[in-house]
Amino acid sequence: MAVQRQQIVVERLFQNYKMLIGRVDTRCHEIESTLSGHMACHRGCSNCCMNISLFPVEAIGLRLSLETLEAEEKEAIVSSALHAKKEGACPLLDGDGACRLYGDRPLICRTHGLPILFEDEAGVRKVDFCPDNFGGLTSLSGELMLDVDALNQMLTAVNAAFCESLFQGHPPFDRVTISDALQLELDV
Ligand code: SF4
Repeated sequence: MAVQRQQIVVERLFQNYKMLIGRVDTRCHEIESTLSGHMACHRGCSNCCMNISLFPVEAIGLRLSLETLEAEEKEAIVSSALHAKKEGACPLLDGDGACRLYGDRPLICRTHGLPILFEDEAGVRKVDFCPDNFGGLTSLSGELMLDVDALNQMLTAVNAAFCESLFQGHPPFDRVTISDALQLELDV
């Protein structure tokens, strides 16, 4: 019973985050299906996969996902996390360049390879995408771009609600790298 109750609490905590991920996945799939002929992305290409930093909602979510793996794989990931460099490759990559927690990867990872729209430090709106993609295209409709600033705003709001519920608004960290997230000691 206690375990069941704990599961329900955890599910509620991550409800908003899962909804946001669902919406982002739907949008990414729509763009991918339109642009698939111009994309070189494939399993094993890990050029986008860096040891990025995460908000508590994603860091703790990823740490919980680690618990779903077999002990041997979990140990291998924690060992990679221990040796990961701050701005180096993501410790979740396996020897074939694939993500070992792909189904539970963070929000920004779901946009990898797609055209993203963002505002630079000078306030100028810019588009970015993987240089291996869209080689044959001369123009791209704005509808096929992901507004990363809007996504980050939504994620910030979801994280704030998560931190309020779990830490009464005082999380133990603002952001941690994926490698540090995988080594968090959990108590939820
Ligand atoms: S979590 Fe997975 S998809 Fe995201 S950077 Fe790491 S290996 Fe790549």
